Parts: sequence; structure tokens; C-alpha cells
Amino acid sequence: MKGITFEGLKTVHFTQLPDPEIIQPGDAIVRVSLAGVCGSDLHVFHGRETGCDCGTVMGHEFVGEIVETGKEVRRFRAGDRVFSPFTTSCGACYYCRIGLTARCESGKLYGWREKGQGLHGGQAEYVRVPMADTTLIHLTSDLSPEQGLLLGDIFSTGYFCADMAGISRETPVTCAVVGCGPVGLMAVMSAVDLGAARVFALDTVTERLAKAKAFGAIPVNVGEPDFGRALREATLGRGVDAALEAVGSPGALRLAIDLVRPGGIVTSVGVHTSEHFPFSPVEAYNKNLTYRIGRCPARYYAEKLIREGVAQRLDIASVITHRFALADGAEAYRVFDEKADDCLKAVLVC
Ligand SMILES: [Zn+2]
Ligand SMILES: [Zn+2]
Repeated sequence: MKGITFEGLKTVHFTQLPDPEIIQPGDAIVRVSLAGVCGSDLHVFHGRETGCDCGTVMGHEFVGEIVETGKEVRRFRAGDRVFSPFTTSCGACYYCRIGLTARCESGKLYGWREKGQGLHGGQAEYVRVPMADTTLIHLTSDLSPEQGLLLGDIFSTGYFCADMAGISRETPVTCAVVGCGPVGLMAVMSAVDLGAARVFALDTVTERLAKAKAFGAIPVNVGEPDFGRALREATLGRGVDAALEAVGSPGALRLAIDLVRPGGIVTSVGVHTSEHFPFSPVEAYNKNLTYRIGRCPARYYAEKLIREGVAQRLDIASVITHRFALADGAEAYRVFDEKADDCLKAVLVC
């Protein structure tokens, strides 16, 4: 098969690779039809996360069709259309049972191999899925491939960001979403859908702010002087009830902390790679801050969002702006990374 492999700093290649094979009886092999390029792939690409083996197939967002199953796989058979959350999960451990599937005791992240251990990713023609019964989700006929792809990571993650902030119709809050990349825009859409009274969307990129506005937010360009005025005015000078940080950088988190009112909540779903918080215990104490952070349990959320009809109802696929052939994967990374041609979310057609 062919796939996109990590080959060192800022280098990915379209490579000829051996076809994946069933190794464990719970494995399935999926023929990928669509694979996402994600902001967290760029952490590896730019060396902010180190240790990934060269030759690892990149990517953790994919949708496709089962072509082969191990002899213990019960829920799936060849021909089934499926998508996967970005981590595998066993369905039986403590964390899987409480819905924190992203912390499954035997779960692995696609597209991360270190010293020969770990999983190849989905930016390829085929991918091996361990623990297929408790990892994969059927792509039912009411879902498009794009919706499945986004449920596997960024929509679930954006929703998780808003849900962790406790946004609901019962307590209409004013919130700010810091960063309007693909995950931030999904957080905007989720906050609006969950019933936030007002959603401010903060970014510097005009096209992203326009999209946030189309999704129901009040756009705020943080590149402009005194950009915080609208937020202060809307909250009688107090600050927002909830700040949803969807970037994963110290600067974005610092801004979220500055924007939230005393007693408010900050949630972070961007992949943080820094060793230290950009705020101090004394600041947190003086703000009576609640801070929630972490990797989205995407399997739990994907199932919930389908069951409740949220994924089908919202126009989530409109964040996808660019499609590339798998063979042009390296170019997709470049365009996505540089935000060239107003690229917001790129997918590879495999
Ligand atoms: Zn992702
Ligand atoms: Zn588990």
C-alpha cells in the first residue's frame, strides 16, 4: 500500500509500505477512503512532540470500509463502513467503563510509534485497528464520511471543550472560544448548540472569524487594539463565565485565564506540550478558577453525539475547506501548516 510517513522535522513522504496484517484476533483492517490532517499532526511535524519513529504512518482521523477481521471480531465484517476515534479502546477497563475512553489502559493513539512500539496512522490506503469491536463505530447511512471523520476527533473534541465548561440551556452563559482553528470552530458550534447565551470567537484570521460568525458567534479579532472591550461590556466588566481554549499554546491559555471572570471556568482541549502553566497558583486562587483540561474521550462523545442526533443536525462538514489526493499528502501538510489558500481543514482522499 501507499501512505504518508513521518521522516523527520517538517518532512513527510508519500511512501510505498507493506500492507498491514491481522496480528491479534481482535484486529480489523480498514481500507481508508478519507483521512484528516489535524493540528496535532503538526506537533509531530514541527518537533514539538518528539520521539515518533521515522517511517510511522501519520494521522489519527479516518473513515473507510472493513476489508478483513480477526477471528474474535464480532461487531464488524468485511464491507462495513466505519470510522474510528483517534485512540483505540478496550471497552472493559475502568476508564472505558466511566466514559474516559481516551485513557483506556490498553488504548493507543494512531500515528504514533516510538522505538518500534505503537500504531501506524490512517493517512494511508489501509490501517490496522486493534480491539476493533470496542474501538470502531459503524458509519450509519444517516452520516456522511466527512461527518464520521470529524466525529473521530475534532467535532467530538470541540464538543467536549464546551461540555466540560458546563454550557447548557438551564444556565445561559457568556463564553469565549480562544482560537478558531477547526477544533475551535467545532467548539463554537457546540457552545451555540448547547445553549450558550453569547459566544465570542477569538482569532486573528479574518476567514476563520467569518466562519465563527456564520456558526453563531460574535467574532473578535485579537490582533486589534482593545479587542477585549466587547467582552467586558457584554459582562458588565466581569469577564466571561467560561473560556474555551482550543489551541494548546501557552499564549492562548494565558488569554483564556485573563478573559474569565472570578468563579468562572476555563477548559483546554488543544494538545499542550509545555512543561508549565502560564498562570500561577495565586492567580488561580484569586480567581476561584475551575480549570479542566485533557484529551477528548472521542469514542464516548462520538457515540453520544450520534445517539442524540447532534452530529447529523449540525453542518460540521463545512469546516473542511481542502481535499488532496493521498499522493499529494506532503503538499496537504504544507498548505494546512501555512494556512495557505485560507486552508482551515484538509482531508486526504485515499
Ligand atoms: Zn485530530
Ligand atoms: Zn479500556
